Amino acid sequence: MLDFEAIRGRAARHAEAANLANRLIDPQPEAPPVSQLAALAGVAQPLRPYRLSAAEADVARRAPWGGATIARFTARMTLLMRRGVSATDADDLAERLHLRDIEADERTLCLECEHYRVGLCGNDRRAGLHVPIVGRDMAVTLRRCPDFDKTVLG
Ligand code: SF4
Repeated sequence: MLDFEAIRGRAARHAEAANLANRLIDPQPEAPPVSQLAALAGVAQPLRPYRLSAAEADVARRAPWGGATIARFTARMTLLMRRGVSATDADDLAERLHLRDIEADERTLCLECEHYRVGLCGNDRRAGLHVPIVGRDMAVTLRRCPDFDKTVLG
């Protein structure tokens, strides 16, 4: 059972960080860069392979997060968790997808695809795969797939 309050809480914390960072960056050029704040926040965090680097976080949090961004983040995190990703990894991946949006990167994750079933691609031939297996590394890697089909939530 997904904890939607917790997911919404994570989205709100990202929005708060981005909105605070935005206030720090614009009117006060001498303020510490977001990367320093992110580095401080990251002290004592366990290994998080999908977490944005400090430089990436600077970009992802440069603009304030409005309601649409928060809703998109929440929907993505929910989808990722439904597909077996832990809350922390789903949080990091959803923020990574937000960065992708900002950078107009057209690559996608299998985890966002309508054809994805945990560990499998339901349309492997059209996707150009030799086998229907989608391992964890592939599922979390941004790539271009000829048969990607966005989920309702994605
Ligand atoms: S169609 Fe492509 S993006 Fe979708 S699950 Fe299969 S390999 Fe992944």
